[in-house]
Amino acid sequence: MIAHIIQTGDPVLRVKANAVEPAEILTQPIQQLIATMKETMEQAPGVGLAAPQIAESWQILVIEDKKEYHLNATAEQLKERERYPVPFHVIINPTLTIDSKEIVEFYEGCLSVAGFVAKVPRALKVTVSGLNEKAEPITIKARGWYARILQHEFDHLQGTLFLDRMLTRTFSTTENYFTYCC
Ligand code: ZN
Repeated sequence: MIAHIIQTGDPVLRVKANAVEPAEILTQPIQQLIATMKETMEQAPGVGLAAPQIAESWQILVIEDKKEYHLNATAEQLKERERYPVPFHVIINPTLTIDSKEIVEFYEGCLSVAGFVAKVPRALKVTVSGLNEKAEPITIKARGWYARILQHEFDHLQGTLFLDRMLTRTFSTTENYFTYCC
């Protein structure tokens, strides 16, 4: 099932999402929600989706950065962003730790702020811990673009959007970004 992606201004994007009881993860409603999130992210398409973006206020993330999404970027852009393919995975009840004082600034967008992008400073390296879709503990150490995706998606579960972190004068329509910025 493909869900409607909620756009900025809806209060569901602005509250902290509820933690999932580990014992509930293997139940049909949560497994169905994860399947819907995967399909919705693929159809959009996007490299990450948080449950509040489909009006489900739960601490669940899905992430996948497919190689085919990199076709529009130059080799140089991929290199400077440290962007590599990331296989599909699920993170539930995540905690996030910043592992580096180094901050990198790149343009990013959000499926819930459709049609716009802005330059957002993010930590280069993070560690995320949580549970996967089988309720098993997982720890992810990431850097570069994957670390950016994790920070962006983790923010969604706190009610934070890239709009809160962006360099405001870089805020742009996606169309103007492609015309003027790259
Ligand atoms: Zn987003």
